Amino acid sequence: MIRWSRWVEINLWALRVNFRALRALLSPKIAILPVIKSEAYGHGLLEVARVLAEEGAYGFGVSEPEEALRLRKAGLALPILLLSGFEKDWLPEIYQLRIIPVVVSVKMLEELGKFLQRKGLSMEFHLKINTGMNRFGIDPEELPRVFEILSKNPHLKLSGVMSHLACAEKPDDPLTQEQQRCFLEVKQVILSQGLKPRFFHLANSAGLIFLRGASGNMVRPGISLYGSYPSFKARAYVKLKPVMTFKARILQVRSLKKGAALGYGPLYRAPSERRVALVPVGYDDGYLRSLSHKGFAWLRGRRVPVIGAISMRCLTLDVSEIENEVLPGEEVILLGGPKEEVPVDELAELAGTISYEILCAIGRRNQRVYR
Ligand code: PLP
Repeated sequence: MIRWSRWVEINLWALRVNFRALRALLSPKIAILPVIKSEAYGHGLLEVARVLAEEGAYGFGVSEPEEALRLRKAGLALPILLLSGFEKDWLPEIYQLRIIPVVVSVKMLEELGKFLQRKGLSMEFHLKINTGMNRFGIDPEELPRVFEILSKNPHLKLSGVMSHLACAEKPDDPLTQEQQRCFLEVKQVILSQGLKPRFFHLANSAGLIFLRGASGNMVRPGISLYGSYPSFKARAYVKLKPVMTFKARILQVRSLKKGAALGYGPLYRAPSERRVALVPVGYDDGYLRSLSHKGFAWLRGRRVPVIGAISMRCLTLDVSEIENEVLPGEEVILLGGPKEEVPVDELAELAGTISYEILCAIGRRNQRVYR
């Protein structure tokens, strides 16, 4: 069998450790709903879901009915929240798969109500409130209309009220504080109507870490479960382990004479004689081109810089500082590592992006191996 030249290792133990570390920050009464959309941020939907179900997750947050279908087919029976709204054609499937839809507009609530009335069915749903992010969600001023619809339609079972924080990694930001204030006000208005949704939830990873759940009895962590910190400051609050490690095997090693060009552009000319390792990983493998001449890898216990341009299926590392000759077939860590040798947060900063983009891109494009 041909050996893989690049692969992603998923450390499911690290996933458990992260879940437990986050759990330890919270009161035991707070339910945890891991966000596993987009193939669990590239880590594998089903493998991640199985482990988190064992760890005591209340349910899962997804963004597509297709993800819920895969979870159900795999025998996972926990509640599934469809986080980003729905199209009305999806409703029969949503009902059949026992998905809990999040209603993000009055129109959506009307459509859900009509569907349930027509079929004579009842369904649990969560209501999303726009507390200041201004994408999805019902504005607080629209609540009277929501109450009117709910009072006329007993098929609609409001079991949760949620909102989403725009910048919880900055807990003192006026927007974070305003969003929390608005959410609490909405909560009071909803309770004053005699409605008793079981859950109120606002916190993503940053909201969980900095605000310990942020005014709710459910939290929705994503990125922190996968071992990446929502900000550098968060490292002081919780210890997380990287779940994803991206490895590759060196294909070729060559010498560059002083002044020689390397790769496209050329973005690089050797300032002195150099040894260069060619790694068969490029932007088509999710290694962002913006890491050209900026990224780094881990080889034989030390960092080696990416030099020159990242191309479609190749990147080049300067291995001149490695003592003994580097050979084709040697393994390099391009992301993660058992001791976080190549931190995703650092690569993200170098690439001018966020860790989410790097994890999704690499995890979804490469063969995943579970450990
Ligand atoms: N809640 C909602 C509604 C989301 O869309 C997301 C992710 O985008 C999360 C929670 C998880 O956020 P994070 O990965 O920052 O923890």
